Amino acid sequence: MMKLNRRSILAGAAAASAATALTPFAALQAQAQAAGFHNYKVGTIDVTVVTDGSNTFKFPDNFVVNKTRDEVNAAWVAMSQQADQMVVPYSPLVVKTGNRTVVIDTGRGAAGQFHANLKAAGIDAGQVDAVIISHFHGDHINGLLDKDGKPAFAKAEILVPAPEFKYFMDDGEMGKQTTDRMKGVFGGARKVFDALGRKVTQYEAGKEVAPGITSVATHGHTPGHMSFIIASGNGKVFVQSDVTNNPLFARNPGFHLMFDQDAQAAEATRRKVYDMLVADKVPVQGFHYPFPALARIEKSSSGYREIPVTSL
Ligand SMILES: [Zn+2]
Repeated sequence: MMKLNRRSILAGAAAASAATALTPFAALQAQAQAAGFHNYKVGTIDVTVVTDGSNTFKFPDNFVVNKTRDEVNAAWVAMSQQADQMVVPYSPLVVKTGNRTVVIDTGRGAAGQFHANLKAAGIDAGQVDAVIISHFHGDHINGLLDKDGKPAFAKAEILVPAPEFKYFMDDGEMGKQTTDRMKGVFGGARKVFDALGRKVTQYEAGKEVAPGITSVATHGHTPGHMSFIIASGNGKVFVQSDVTNNPLFARNPGFHLMFDQDAQAAEATRRKVYDMLVADKVPVQGFHYPFPALARIEKSSSGYREIPVTSL
């Protein structure tokens, strides 16, 4: 019988790391999982979190543009994470509200697991009534298309933030871009929406985009970035989209992620939203939080702390 003590665990770990030249922790690589979906209710509304998987990568030096690599690593290791190895999960939602099935954000498309897990959750993409998009980054819109580049939600109305659509479809704005990354965001968005014939319904902030789902302007990460409040009865959850990326940015709201297009506005939005989540005790559904990506928020000395929960 194997004795479970510190020495035997370390001995096993040493043998493993000698073979792989990796620390034992880094040697644990996530693989495709069994169907990943998680159900909960907000009043009478059914929410299903459907994972699109996650991405683990060595983060670039400018991952947080206003902090050094050492500062980012210090904050990341303080969360019991592995230095240099960033982990970004993706968590689109399916909401059954009234008699409608609504998807909020669609994951990475061919690179992700959203569509396979959607099927496993018993949800037919062809029967989805509406898809609501928060903003036009590829990890939120690429799942609008299937592997062949055809519309993945055949009969769904596609709802997009009006300011986001205006900005990214504006040739003048596209012409102003100087970085490969921003040219890529414009190109990626146009590829997806051109494949849909640009047939979308544009929505503004403060609108009930589906029964019980209200859009909230949370601009900064992108010019037209939106979040959502799902509310029914006494239940309420804030669907933050990318107000923060993973919880590193909740713990350190002053960190400016390289993908925040207007970093000052994104930080102001982040602090405003998180102060509201703390004051009103509203749980948050974080697109880039670890699955099932639902948490309640507390104030901390450096910013905020997310406490994972599995139901409301
Ligand atoms: Zn994102």
